[in-house]
Amino acid sequence: MALRRFFVGGNWKMNGNKESLEELMTTLNTSSLHDQTEVVCAAPSIYLDFVRSSLDPRIGVAAQNCYKVAKGAFTGEISPAMIKDCGVDWVILGHSERRHVFGESDELIGQKVAHALESDLGVIACIGEKLEEREAGTTEEVVYAQTQVIAGFLLSEEFWFSFLMEGCCSVPDNVKDWGKVVLAYEPVWAIGTGKTASPEQAQEVHEKLRAWLRANVSDDVADSVRIIYGGSVTGANCRELAAQGDVDGFLVGGASLKPEFVDIINARA
Ligand code: PGA
Repeated sequence: MALRRFFVGGNWKMNGNKESLEELMTTLNTSSLHDQTEVVCAAPSIYLDFVRSSLDPRIGVAAQNCYKVAKGAFTGEISPAMIKDCGVDWVILGHSERRHVFGESDELIGQKVAHALESDLGVIACIGEKLEEREAGTTEEVVYAQTQVIAGFLLSEEFWFSFLMEGCCSVPDNVKDWGKVVLAYEPVWAIGTGKTASPEQAQEVHEKLRAWLRANVSDDVADSVRIIYGGSVTGANCRELAAQGDVDGFLVGGASLKPEFVDIINARA
């Protein structure tokens, strides 16, 4: 089985200012971080340049969203090309706040994932069920459907057709490369609520998602894709979650703005 490097993302959301982020980055830059863990901090887009130039290069930086094309008349949006231009290598897509506060559809998220990968960004692709869906027993159905849309965009003929029609004659290897995708399972009821999924609940969904990838994508992808958990992860609960066989890391909101983020990064140390 492929070795999956533990991955911890900090999702700062729309928080902080230059002063507080500088302080947070100083803590991260001067802390001892487990060298087997890949760490990526997702900053508000206006601070991407600032964060990339202040954060130690061993820590990756992500945008929290981007649009599905490289440039054009899309007021207020940013493109993967602009993110790359700031020296930033990752983007979070499909976060539940984008889906449920800003009404982004599965289709739009799939298009964004495809374009971001085509632009050589790594993608933290988020999926997860709402409370009523869990209570109705449809968790699997929901997360499989969300993953299916993303998987479909990576492989669809429609995508290849439009890609080739844009005049690109050589296909970059990275387009279908699941190696640049980290799948974040984030139950909506656990995000920002202080109500974490139990280690067993997280492991159960992660294991099923991996089986879904095995059946619908490939053995290689199932073995190598990192499936990380997000939703009220803290310094206090991270070790038990990190001990689960299919939990390959975390996407952390609130706690990523606090010094305890270092404990979460070191959850497997
Ligand atoms: P939380 O957020 O850790 O504050 O629950 C997680 C996320 O939204 O990625």
